[in-house]
Amino acid sequence: MKILSDIAALLTGMWITWKHIFRRPVTIQYPEEKRTPYPRYRARIVLTRDPDGGERCVACQLCSAACPVDCISMQPGEEADGRRYAEWFRINFARCIFCGLCAEACPTLAIQMTPDFEICKRDIMDLVYEKEDLLIDGCGKSPEYNFYRHAGIGVTQQRGEGIEEKRPVDVRSLLP
Ligand code: SF4
Ligand code: SF4
Repeated sequence: MKILSDIAALLTGMWITWKHIFRRPVTIQYPEEKRTPYPRYRARIVLTRDPDGGERCVACQLCSAACPVDCISMQPGEEADGRRYAEWFRINFARCIFCGLCAEACPTLAIQMTPDFEICKRDIMDLVYEKEDLLIDGCGKSPEYNFYRHAGIGVTQQRGEGIEEKRPVDVRSLLP
């Protein structure tokens, strides 16, 4: 019986080999031929703007704190009206592992991943991107989101009067 199971295993292996011999090759002749990544593919990072055209980044440093390889740095600044921004913002793509944690941590949706994976450079120092290399004119994903309509200096209404904001709970009403 052992010989039968050995023959069956041999035939199974040969069947799988023959099956793949006649499949279309999946090799892509890059760079002549390019495959379009999925929209949520995590590659080159950008800084986006809100729908009013303002910079979304408030230089809170959360992305920098979340980054496992410490490749984000910035200098916070403040406008006369109290609105914060990044005086400079730097990402070292030579260290970035494109994990997406910075984008997850960002409360203003300023920092976003894009599917642009073609950022290889001959000189490693060219992989250090400054704010002017990162900041785009558009909103990227979630184009309707504007942080200052929900929080920060843009909020002038009382608690509970914001967009889709519930009235605060009177904790005394919770007493038994
Ligand atoms: S994708 Fe990951 S490694 Fe790259 S900057 Fe963001 S947190 Fe850091
Ligand atoms: S990109 Fe987002 S998380 Fe990073 S400093 Fe700016 S607002 Fe904060």
